[in-house]
Amino acid sequence: MKPLEFLEPETLEEACSLIAKHKDEARLISSGQSLIPMLQQRLITPAYLISIRNLPGLDYIKESADGLRIGALATQRSVEMSEVVRRKLPLLAEAVHAVGTVQIRNWGTIGGSLAEADPTGDPPPALLALGARVKAKSIRGEREIPLSEFFVDYLQSSLEPDEILTEIIVPYPPPKTGGAYIKDVVRAGDTGIVTVAALVTLNGGRKVKEARIVLGCQSTTPLRALKAEKAAAGKRPGDSLDDVIAAAQADSDPAPDVLGSVEYKSYLAGIRTRDALRLAISRAIAS
Ligand SMILES: Cc1cc2nc3c(=O)[nH]c(=O)nc-3n(C[C@H](O)[C@H](O)[C@H](O)COP(=O)(O)OP(=O)(O)OC[C@H]3O[C@@H](n4cnc5c(N)ncnc54)[C@H](O)[C@@H]3O)c2cc1C
Repeated sequence: MKPLEFLEPETLEEACSLIAKHKDEARLISSGQSLIPMLQQRLITPAYLISIRNLPGLDYIKESADGLRIGALATQRSVEMSEVVRRKLPLLAEAVHAVGTVQIRNWGTIGGSLAEADPTGDPPPALLALGARVKAKSIRGEREIPLSEFFVDYLQSSLEPDEILTEIIVPYPPPKTGGAYIKDVVRAGDTGIVTVAALVTLNGGRKVKEARIVLGCQSTTPLRALKAEKAAAGKRPGDSLDDVIAAAQADSDPAPDVLGSVEYKSYLAGIRTRDALRLAISRAIAS
């Protein structure tokens, strides 16, 4: 078997040329936390690893007119601890805080969390609820992809094999918006059984004008819970959320595994959607 070659480009342009040259034979590696276990288990057998970890200038978090811009190589920990993320996008800070342990977050990159396209990943549901989009670069140019079109299937994104995810753009939510991220785990630090990201905007009073609800661990991709969103519209604090629970259960589409049966996971998705919605409404009122 040919030995694995580890390539370390010094610029983004050089990385784009290398991935274009080796395409299907190569994999990009940022922090390797998801990739290395896949290599160890022989789930993937690339001939080349192209390390983007040390590419300069891709680990920023900066404000811009149309939202917060986060470089793909920003670590999960730097996103979680960022003062501007906590102030402007607390839902994102809460979701990233739910990733594994501090050691994992110190190392893992936000770009890797998205490119991995793992339906159990914590940042994706929050970023999807926030209406984020990503920038992808290749030797053919640069394009933006809304996250609503990014997650295609289990561990599969809409990135082309020669594209590098370089930036995440997260629009600022309107005033009177609140969010909540809830994750159910068996043990602290585990991946979720069910995760829910809820983002609600009130109509000026205390009534929900718009709700975005995304379920994780409930399908092959993070799942927009459209029925639950519809049921949540018009709700006020103190209203029964039984119809939201039923709608989220209908939205969920989990697979059975060691963490639970289809029935258990769907049941939990409904209950946790209600909890996340309640918390998001109270935070929107307090904002
Ligand atoms: C013990 C453990 C526990 C964990 N627990 C959680 C958890 O609770 N929640 C959670 O969300 N995650 C968890 N993770 C995953 C972790 O957060 C990873 O860091 C993250 O999912 C992937 O980021 P990475 O930088 O390590 O990417 P890598 O492992 O380097 O790459 C992952 C995939 O994305 C591709 N890729 C990476 N960066 C780019 C890019 N910029 N452009 C295009 N493709 C790219 C790679 O080719 C590869 O296919 C855990 C990991 C471990 C090891």
